[in-house]
Amino acid sequence: MSDEFISLTIGQQKNIALIAHDKKKKEMLDWCDWNKKILSKHFLYGTGTTAKMITDRTNLPVRGYNSGPLGGDQQIGAKVVEGVIDAIVFFSDPLSAQPHDPDVKALLRIALVYDIPIATNRASADFMITSPLMNEEYTRQVINFQNTVDKRAQTL
Ligand code: PGA
Repeated sequence: MSDEFISLTIGQQKNIALIAHDKKKKEMLDWCDWNKKILSKHFLYGTGTTAKMITDRTNLPVRGYNSGPLGGDQQIGAKVVEGVIDAIVFFSDPLSAQPHDPDVKALLRIALVYDIPIATNRASADFMITSPLMNEEYTRQVINFQNTVDKRAQTL
């Protein structure tokens, strides 16, 4: 069996990060309200302002990190790396320049590296939240970093 990848399991109960850029916050709040029943079965996290606004609107508990422009996206990325957060709904604004654009790109990249589901618009989020996999365990394949580190240490 190849040791290039390791399998990591996303549990039945998921750890979902919710992030919305300012012009997408209303859309996020409406989406969370609409999907409140499903979201209440999972653990929720978010960038500071988004998290607070979701809790204020829906009463869902959302663990808030720093605000996005102050490093919140990076904190969420770190939690993906640590295996804590295993899905992201990120309503990103394609029409406004963001001061923290590099952080946003970094988070998208980390989601790819760790093969976690990430929805960046409402339609994708609708498909994600209604997927039968939301109620099942799912095994994702992640690069075997320990293997990579060992090989690099030997060959570089
Ligand atoms: P916010 O951050 O939830 O604190 O507004 C979101 C973002 O802009 O990334």
